[in-house]
Amino acid sequence: MNVNPLLSLVGDYSFLLVYAVPVLVMWAFYIGRRKLASKSNSRILESMLKAGLTEPASLHPKINRDLCIACNSCAIACPEQDVLGIVDDKVELINPTHCIGHGACAAACPVGAIELVFGSEKRGVDIPKVDATFETNVPGIYIAGELGGMGLIRNAVSQGRQAMDAIAKRRDIRTGKGYDVIIVGCGPAGFSATLSAKQHKLNYLTIDQESFGGTVSHYPRGKIVMTQPAELPLIGSVKFTETSKEALMAFWEDARNKAQISINTGEQMLSVKKHQGAFEVTTSKGVYNTATVLLAIGRRGTPRKLDVPGEDLPKVVYRLVDPEQYRDKHVLVVGGGDSALEAAISIAEQPGATVSLSYRSAAFSRAKEKNREKVSAAETAGRLRVLLKSEVKEITTESVAVEHDGQLLALRNDAVIVSAGGVLPTGMLKELGIAVETKHGVA
Ligand SMILES: Cc1cc2nc3c(=O)[nH]c(=O)nc-3n(C[C@H](O)[C@H](O)[C@H](O)COP(=O)(O)OP(=O)(O)OC[C@H]3O[C@@H](n4cnc5c(N)ncnc54)[C@H](O)[C@@H]3O)c2cc1C
Repeated sequence: MNVNPLLSLVGDYSFLLVYAVPVLVMWAFYIGRRKLASKSNSRILESMLKAGLTEPASLHPKINRDLCIACNSCAIACPEQDVLGIVDDKVELINPTHCIGHGACAAACPVGAIELVFGSEKRGVDIPKVDATFETNVPGIYIAGELGGMGLIRNAVSQGRQAMDAIAKRRDIRTGKGYDVIIVGCGPAGFSATLSAKQHKLNYLTIDQESFGGTVSHYPRGKIVMTQPAELPLIGSVKFTETSKEALMAFWEDARNKAQISINTGEQMLSVKKHQGAFEVTTSKGVYNTATVLLAIGRRGTPRKLDVPGEDLPKVVYRLVDPEQYRDKHVLVVGGGDSALEAAISIAEQPGATVSLSYRSAAFSRAKEKNREKVSAAETAGRLRVLLKSEVKEITTESVAVEHDGQLLALRNDAVIVSAGGVLPTGMLKELGIAVETKHGVA
């Protein structure tokens, strides 16, 4: 029997076709998806560059492009969204300001292309120098939590506890003169330190310029919090690994009540001075003497104020927590960065709310393009009034005086949200004589 040589060839290799075709299709699909992802990532990166959002707050990955094999393991391992992504066949830090230093990327990289560093060539990050007990070069002043450079809830909790264990061993405390320790800040580090101070039966005072919970209490509603089990003094081991902001805050509130610790919220530390071998701490509410001070003030800074009459009214706040609370209200948002724009956009979506956005410059050049577009859409739809080149002059219970284009406007007002950035604590550390090291992209 005569067999067509071509058919016999195909016959011999038909099993290859059965496998090769699906593999080729899958490969083409994978390459297509990767190209699309790269395009979208490079758009994110471009908009961050345009908005000047190029510097991570603290610890972040530095990617060695020569070693990177673009396997994307780092981006998959990162618990935050859109921080890392492939752009033109290499991984880039596409959203630097959203990096909070989990460090999961470095652990996931199979070729060691990621190093975790502080600061960058452009912007140095000041890291205070502390010893193994978290004491600074100024004897009696301790630093715990993110202010010391290491972010994350678990690190803050364990440093707060360790610093207080060290303070409790000092000989110059329990003198009966003033406090043994003043804890400044009540985020995870200050909370854990306060529980530990109570456990050690110290005479302590804990203050926070805002509310209990620190940065965690300001996370967006419903944020998934990734953490690791930690040991809370008086409470025991806490086994959370993944939870929501609300569940974590509820757990902490419960622990705070059970342990019966006292925390003065709404009290800001203004200065710390050496005084007769101890310290004099001046706050917005009083002057106290203390043998030691634990600074657990994080790195987010103190919100910048407007310094206008009426700013101390309770309706003036420095962060948006829940847009829904502004339904049917007349609201003024002040600022031109992303948080101001995002606050104005989300409040403008609330039924019955009237929103004005006041910014002193002529354009929102510091904000992401996506937010600028949303602001102009809301303005065009009549849901938002934008007042560029404007300045708040006075706040009263029912109105706000805003100077705009040489005219003084009186806006009806129920609430003011000031989103004008923060004053970082590093200047204050230097004033206290605490040695800091400025890191430019090194570990
Ligand atoms: C959006 C976002 C998401 C995050 N997600 C996670 C996550 O999923 N998992 C994780 O582990 N970490 C996460 N982090 C990081 C984590 O929140 C911080 O590392 C942690 O809160 C640091 O704790 P801290 O106690 O050192 O400081 P903070 O929590 O920042 O608390 C500092 C406190 O000090 C107070 N303070 C400051 N100055 C003064 C002053 N002069 N007088 C009185 N009080 C003062 C502040 O009001 C504040 O309450 C995230 C951070 C952000 C911004």
